[in-house]
Amino acid sequence: MVRKFVYRFESNKAEGRAEWKPLLGGKGANLAEMANLGIPVPPGFTVTTEACIDYLKLGHFPEGLLEAVRDSMSWLETCTRRQFGNVENPLLVSVRSGAQSSMPGMMDTILDLGLNDETVIGLARQSQSERFAFDAYRRLLGMFGNVVLEIDHELFEPALDAARRAVARQKQLSLPDDADTLARVVPDSVLGAEELKLVVADYKRIILEHSGKPFPSDPYEQLDAAIAAVFRSWNNARAKLYREMHDIPHDWGTAVNIQAMVFGNLGDTSATGVAFTRDPSTGERRFFGEWLPNAQGEDVVAGIRTPRALSRSPESDGSSLEEAMPDSYAELFKIQHVLEQRFRDMQDIEFTIEAGRLYLLQTRNGKRSARASVRIAVDMVNEGLLYPDEAILRVDPERLGELLFPAIDPKAGASAIARGIPASPGAVSGKAVFNAEDAQAYAERGESVILVRTETSPEDLHGMKAAKGILTARGGATSHAAVVARGMGRPCVSGCSTLHIDYASGEAVVHGGNGEVTTRIKHADSITIDGSSGSVYLGNVKTIEAELGPEMETMLVWTERVSRMRVRANADTPEQAAKALSFGARGIGLCRTEHMFFSDERIAAVREMILARDTKAREKALAKLLPFQTQDFAGLFRVMKGLPVNIRLLDPPLHEFLPHEKHQIGELAATMGVSVVDVERKIAELYEFNPMLGHRGVRLGITYPEVPAMQVRAILEAACTVQEEGHEVLPEIMVPLAFSEGELGAMRVIIDEVAKDVFAKHGKEVKFKVGTMIELPRAALLADQLAKHAEFFSFGTNDLTQTTLGVSRDDAGSFLPLYVERGILPEDPFISLDTDGVGELVRIAIEKGRVARPELHFGVCGEHGGDPKSIDFCEQIGLSYVSCSPFRVPIARVAAAQASLRRTRKYWR
Ligand code: ADP
Ligand code: MG
Ligand code: MG
Repeated sequence: MVRKFVYRFESNKAEGRAEWKPLLGGKGANLAEMANLGIPVPPGFTVTTEACIDYLKLGHFPEGLLEAVRDSMSWLETCTRRQFGNVENPLLVSVRSGAQSSMPGMMDTILDLGLNDETVIGLARQSQSERFAFDAYRRLLGMFGNVVLEIDHELFEPALDAARRAVARQKQLSLPDDADTLARVVPDSVLGAEELKLVVADYKRIILEHSGKPFPSDPYEQLDAAIAAVFRSWNNARAKLYREMHDIPHDWGTAVNIQAMVFGNLGDTSATGVAFTRDPSTGERRFFGEWLPNAQGEDVVAGIRTPRALSRSPESDGSSLEEAMPDSYAELFKIQHVLEQRFRDMQDIEFTIEAGRLYLLQTRNGKRSARASVRIAVDMVNEGLLYPDEAILRVDPERLGELLFPAIDPKAGASAIARGIPASPGAVSGKAVFNAEDAQAYAERGESVILVRTETSPEDLHGMKAAKGILTARGGATSHAAVVARGMGRPCVSGCSTLHIDYASGEAVVHGGNGEVTTRIKHADSITIDGSSGSVYLGNVKTIEAELGPEMETMLVWTERVSRMRVRANADTPEQAAKALSFGARGIGLCRTEHMFFSDERIAAVREMILARDTKAREKALAKLLPFQTQDFAGLFRVMKGLPVNIRLLDPPLHEFLPHEKHQIGELAATMGVSVVDVERKIAELYEFNPMLGHRGVRLGITYPEVPAMQVRAILEAACTVQEEGHEVLPEIMVPLAFSEGELGAMRVIIDEVAKDVFAKHGKEVKFKVGTMIELPRAALLADQLAKHAEFFSFGTNDLTQTTLGVSRDDAGSFLPLYVERGILPEDPFISLDTDGVGELVRIAIEKGRVARPELHFGVCGEHGGDPKSIDFCEQIGLSYVSCSPFRVPIARVAAAQASLRRTRKYWR
C-alpha cells in the first residue's frame, strides 16, 4: 500500500490538524489548523516528514510521492484558478521547509517558483508591473541558485551591484566603493524593470557557469528539485548545529509545504509583517509586531529596511499598520486572539496583505525570554487559559537563570553611547568583536566578547553561541539576531541604527545627530550592552543582581503543591543561607566547614593544630577554634529557623591549609615559635601524590579524633545555645568519604560521647541526626552496613563521579569534551549525572540502605542537585531532597516540581 504523502489545506478546510506536527511539521500542521479555523491562508499542501526520511534514506523520492504531488498541483490549480507554467495566468508557489519543532531560519524556503522567461511576461501583464514580475524572477533565480544548486549567494552579488551602479550613474550619484553603502544609496526598490531584466540575465549566466546547466524553465522540474533540496536542507551544517544545541533528534526529518504565492509587494495596498500575541521580551500582554508596506516575505526579518510598528503609539505618527490599513489590522487583531485561544500559548505570526486582502502564512508558539515565559504562563493561568501545573511545565528551568541576569547598576552613572531595540534581556560586558570567528577564538581563550554585527545570519550562529551578548546595527525585535539571542538566552540589542560597522578596518563608529562620529569602538574594546533597555555603553559598566519578580514568586508557590522532593541549598555562611532561604530553600544540604577555616584569625589556629607535635598541643589549638566554629554554626541555625542544617565534618587534606611560599613559611615559623626547617619537614610529610584519594574525609577523624570531637562540640553547643534563645534547631552531622561500617562506628562513638557531655552541661538535649556522605563505590555497594550507623545518606555526586569513572574532574579537560562529542558519554558527567553508572550505584545504595534502615532518608549535594536533568533522575529514584547552590534554588524548585508532575502524572486541577 502506498502511504499518504500529501495533506492539503485551503480556506475553511484541511486534511491535517495541529496535533500532527510529527508528520506535517509545525508549519504544515498549523497551516492546516488555521484553515480549519476559517482563518485566511493561501491554499497549498504539505509533503510529510516520512517522505523526507525516505528520501534521505533512499537518495531518491519514495514511490508514489511524485504522483501525489502532481495530483495536488492540479487540485491547487483548480483552487486558485491558475495554472502552473501557464503563460497567461501562471500559478506561482512557495516551497517551504518546516520541521516538527521550529528551527527559525535553519532550513531553506524558495519563493515564486513557477517563473520562467514566458510566465514572467504573464505575471507582468497580470500585475501590470514589469518591475514587480522581474523582481520576483530575480529573487527566484537567486534562491533557487543558492538553495537548490548550492551556489554561494555571494556569487550573485556582483550582478546586483552592477545594476545599482548603473542606476547611480543615471542619477549622477557619486559611487561608493563598498557594496554595503552602495546598497543603502541605491536600495532594491529603486531598481527598475530594465535593470532587473539585466540582473535576471546575469543570474541565469551565473547559474549556468557554476552548475554547468541552465536554470530549468520547466516549472515541474523546478518544483521537484526544490522539494529534494528542502529535504536535503535537513542535513545542512547549521541545521545540524541548531538541533544539537536544542536537543532535537536528527531523525525527525522536515516536511515541505507547497503553497500558492501571495504578494505583499504589489504596491501600496500590499504589505508583509510578523507579529507576536504578547511581548516576547517581557511577556506583557500586548499585540506587538513589525511590518513593511510593499514588501515580500523575508524583507521584515532580513533587516534591510527598518520595519514599522504594528500598533498605534504616540510615536507611530501614522506609520503603524493600525493607522495605515485599519481594516486589515482589525482583522489581524481578531485572528491573533483566536490563535492564542486555540493554541493556549503566545503565538508568533507571519502575515501578508495582497492588495488589501489579509493572509496568514504561519503561526507557531513564539520564542521568548525566560522572564517572558514565566509571566506568560502565570498570566494565562489567571486568564483561565491554563492550569497551574501546565504553567509549571511551560517554563524551561535551565533558562530561569536568566531571571537572575544582572542589570546595569543605576548608581554607576554610566551614560549610553547609543541606543537600539531591547531584543533580549540582561546586561553584559565584553570585548567588541566584529565577526563570528573572532568571537569563537576569544571565547575559547576564556574571554568575554560581545559580537557586534551590522546584522546576523545563520552563518554567525557559532559566534553568537560563543559571545556573551549580541549587538546589531540593523533589524528589529524580530530580526535573526533578536530571535536567536532570545532562544539562547544571550542579551541582545538590535537595530542600533546610529552604529556603523566597518568590517574591513575592524572598527565601529557611532554617529551623532548631524552625522558626525561621536564614538569609536575598535576591535577588542570593552563595551557593555543592556538588552533590557536597548542601551550600549563604552567600557565595563557595573551591573547588579536581578530579582525573581512577582510572577516567578507565584509560580514558585505553585511548585510547592506538586513537588515531592524538597530543595535545599549548599551554604557555608549565614549570608549564603539567608540568600538561599529567600529563594525558598527548605534547609541546608551541605555546609562545608573547611570554608570557615580560611579567614585570617582562624587560619593561624588551624595551622597550629596541623603542626602540633602531640595530641595535647593539638587540643590546645583546637580549643582556639572552638568558639569560632560555635559562632558560625549558631549563625546558620538562627537563619534557618528549625529547618535542617547539614554540616559536614572536615573533609580536605590538611596540607591545603599550609602555606607554600618561602616567606609565608618563614612567617608561620616565627609566629609559632618553631624553626623553618620544622615547618618545611611537616609540609613535606603531608605531601601526597593523589590528594583526592589521600588523607582526607573521615580518615582525618580516624587519625585525629580530637578534630571531629571539636567540630561536633561546636555544632551541639551552638544548637543548645540557639535552642535556649527560643529557636528550633535541626542539625545533621555528616561524615565525609566513609567506605566502611568501621569508620562510621568510630565516629559515632566520638559524636555520642561529645553529645552526652554537651547535653549534661546544658541540662537539656537537642535532637540531631548523624549520617554520611556516599562518595565512594564501596560505600554504595555496602550501604546496608553503613546504614547501621547512619540516619541519612547524602550522595556527594561530584566525588562519586570521580571515583566511579576514575576521572579526575580537574584533569578531564583534555579528553572529556571529545568523549561527549563522539557520543561515548551522552553528556559531561560532572554537569548531568551519569545515570547509567553513577546512578546505578545510587540506586543500589538506596535499596540496600532502606533494607537495613527503613526510615533512612536520602539527598544529593553534588552540583548535580541544581541540574534539571539530574533532578529528574533524583525524583525517579525517590530521593527526599536535592541540594544546590543558593542561586540555583529557584531553578531546582521548578525542575523538582516538573519531575514530580511528569512522574506521578497527578495533575493539579
Ligand atoms: P522560515 O521558516 O525561514 O520562516 P518560511 O517558509 O516561513 O521560512 O518562508 C520565508 C518567508 O517567505 C516568510 O516571511 C514567509 O511568510 C514568506 N512566504 C512563504 N510562503 C509564502 C507564500 N506562499 N506567499 C507569500 N509569502 C510567503
Ligand atoms: Mg527559511
Ligand atoms: Mg517562517
